[in-house]
Amino acid sequence: MLTQAPKGTKDIFGAEMQIWHDIEGKMREICSNFGIEEIRTPIFEHTELFLRGVGDTTDIVQKEMYTFNDKGNRSITLRPESTAGVARAYIEHGMHNNAQPTKLYYIAPTFRYEKMQAGRQRQFHQFGIEMFGSYSPALDAEVISVAAQLIEKLGIESIQLKINSLGCPECRAKYNKLLREFIGDNLDNLCKECKDRYERNPLRVLDCKEEGCKKIIENAPEILDCLCDECKDHFETLKAILDEMGIKYVVDPQIVRGLDYYTRTVFEFVTTTIGAQGTVCGGGRYDNLIEEVGGPKTGAVGFGLGIERLILTLKAQNGEIEYKPERDIYIGSIGKKGFVKSQAVTLALRKAGIVAECDTVGRSVKAQMKYANKIGAKYSLILGDDEVDNDSISLKNMETGEVEALKLSELEAKMKEIFK
Ligand code: ATP
Ligand code: MG
Repeated sequence: MLTQAPKGTKDIFGAEMQIWHDIEGKMREICSNFGIEEIRTPIFEHTELFLRGVGDTTDIVQKEMYTFNDKGNRSITLRPESTAGVARAYIEHGMHNNAQPTKLYYIAPTFRYEKMQAGRQRQFHQFGIEMFGSYSPALDAEVISVAAQLIEKLGIESIQLKINSLGCPECRAKYNKLLREFIGDNLDNLCKECKDRYERNPLRVLDCKEEGCKKIIENAPEILDCLCDECKDHFETLKAILDEMGIKYVVDPQIVRGLDYYTRTVFEFVTTTIGAQGTVCGGGRYDNLIEEVGGPKTGAVGFGLGIERLILTLKAQNGEIEYKPERDIYIGSIGKKGFVKSQAVTLALRKAGIVAECDTVGRSVKAQMKYANKIGAKYSLILGDDEVDNDSISLKNMETGEVEALKLSELEAKMKEIFK
C-alpha cells in the first residue's frame, strides 16, 4: 500500500515527462497563436455545479464522481471535467461583459471513479478549450481547428475527425419522439441503463457501448433528418468552413457525446490504434450551459482532449521514446579546494544559462568521470589545487576526447561561445 500509487493513477517522470513537456509546449504555442488564454480553476468545486452543469443523467454524475463532505460539511467534488468550472468562472468574473468571444484553455488533472481498462484512469489529464459569446458556426470551426492543428503538429496520422449535429431543443424533441417510436417493442431488450435513458434522454441510447443496444439502434433514424432550417444552416456552414480550411472530417450521425448539455455541433477525434477507448478528443456546442449554471444566455463551444490517450496514440505510431539525459558540462574536482570551487563555478555557469553539473556526492575522480558520461555531459574538466591557484584548466570534449588548455576565468565565455 505505502509504496504503491492508488489504483488508476500514474506517476509521470523521466522519458515520459519529456513527451508531456513537448506536447504541453505545443498546446500552449497553438493557443497563443489562436489568442486563447489559459485559465486555472480549482481542482474541486461544489458538487451542485456538476449536477447542474454536467447533467444528472450522465455516467459521470451517476457513477464516476469523487464526492465527499469537507470538514465544514459542504459537498465537494473533484472535477470530473473542466467545462462546468470554467463556465462558473466565466460568470463569476463577469467575463460576459468583455468584448466577445472569450477564448480560454486549460491543461488540468481530472478525476473519475472508473472501472480500470486500457485508456481509462481515475486521475487523467485533459487539455481543453472553451469559447464563449458567439452562436456562429465560425466559432465551432475555430475550436475544431485547434485540435486539428495540435494533431497535425504532433504528426499523428491515425486520428479521424467525426462531426454531427444534435440540433436545438425543438429538433431534439422531434427526434426523441421518432427514436422512441423506432425502439418501440425493443424497449424490453435494451440494457438497464438504456431503459432509463429511453425515458429521460433517448438520444443517449445511441452512445451505449452494450452490443445488444448497439444492434437495436443499428438502423435508427438519423437526427440530421430532424434538423430545423436554422440548425441545418448552422451545420452546412460549419462544413463549408472546415472544407475551406482543409480540415478533413466525416459526418457520423451516431456521435451524440455523453454529456447532456450539447446543442447543435458535436464532434470527436478518434483513433483505432489504442484499443476500445479510441476517443482522444470530444467536444461540441453548448448554448444552454451558461444559463443553466446561473449566467446570461450565451453561445459556447469547446472540447476536452485526453492527454494520456493522445500520448498512447503517439506511441502506437512512433514507438517508445528513449530517455537520453544531456548536460553541457561536468565540473569534476579533486581535493577540498577544488571541490568547494567547483560548486561556485557550476552555479556561475548555470546563471549564464549553461547546463552544468558538479560532484555533490563525494565521488572519486574516476567515479566522477563515469558519472559525467552517464548524464551525457558534452564537456568536462577537473578542478584541483593547481587549477584553482594558477587559473588554468584542461577542458575535455567528451565526444572527441580532445583536450584544450584554458584559463578558468575564461570558462564561462568559452561555454557561451560553444552553446549559444
Ligand atoms: P469515454 O467514452 O471514453 O468514456 P467520455 O465521453 O467519458 O469518454 P469526455 O467526458 O468527453 O469523455 O472527455 C474527453 C476526453 O477525455 C475523452 O475523449 C478521453 O480522451 C479523455 N478521458 C475521459 N475519461 C478518461 C479516463 N477515465 N481516463 C483517461 N482519459 C479519459
Ligand atoms: Mg466516460
